Amino acid sequence: MGENTGQPKIVAIKRIVQETPRIKSFYLDCVMNALPGQFAMAWLPGIDEKPFTLTAAGKEGAITVQEKGKFTKKLFELREGSKVGIRGPYGNGFDIKGVKHACIVAGGCGVAPILLLAEQLSKQGIELAVINGAKTAKECLFRERLGKAAGNLYITTDDGSLGERGFATDVLQKLLEKEKFDCVYG
Ligand SMILES: Cc1cc2nc3c(=O)[nH]c(=O)nc-3n(C[C@H](O)[C@H](O)[C@H](O)COP(=O)(O)OP(=O)(O)OC[C@H]3O[C@@H](n4cnc5c(N)ncnc54)[C@H](O)[C@@H]3O)c2cc1C
Repeated sequence: MGENTGQPKIVAIKRIVQETPRIKSFYLDCVMNALPGQFAMAWLPGIDEKPFTLTAAGKEGAITVQEKGKFTKKLFELREGSKVGIRGPYGNGFDIKGVKHACIVAGGCGVAPILLLAEQLSKQGIELAVINGAKTAKECLFRERLGKAAGNLYITTDDGSLGERGFATDVLQKLLEKEKFDCVYG
């Protein structure tokens, strides 16, 4: 956010995007000056406060959340216009200095932390391969945005319903045999 006081700021949810059957993005009405990989603390009074990686930064912030337990079930009950406490950004973000040829490997909801990284590397003209793993085609997160950012997007699913059947790490192993990356982010 503009100034990071350490106190949660109460902000409105501007819009909610259903990304996969169990993952939603919550776009927040606040300025969020964050580096790729940084996270914010989301607070629901009387429930809890939990960390979530930022999937939008700049004029608005966003968090992308998988429904799991107590906190995320409550968050999923909120609607556009509902309020949530937000503080941050926190964490160090990814180091991209000196990187010219990169690979990103992530799976499931773990794709959320690498989205802004992929978009930043692409903006800087860095040659990029992304391996995006999911259980099924329906659960594949940020396929379109990663497709635009990556020179090569590899998709794996556990059941083979999209891309290659298997794990993201299987594709990584094959890629490492034929390509040399300055950095592999996960
Ligand atoms: C730096 C950081 C970044 C993160 N970024 C993201 C992100 O971008 N997106 C995201 O979705 N999450 C992210 N997380 C995880 C997030 O903070 C929460 O931990 C997560 O959403 C689960 O919170 P919850 O309260 O809904 O679930 P919890 O209530 O904490 O439950 C989590 C799991 O444990 C099980 N469980 C709960 N209590 C018990 C029990 N007593 N016995 C057995 N099992 C139990 C639940 O059924 C559930 O499967 C991040 C975490 C960190 C540390």
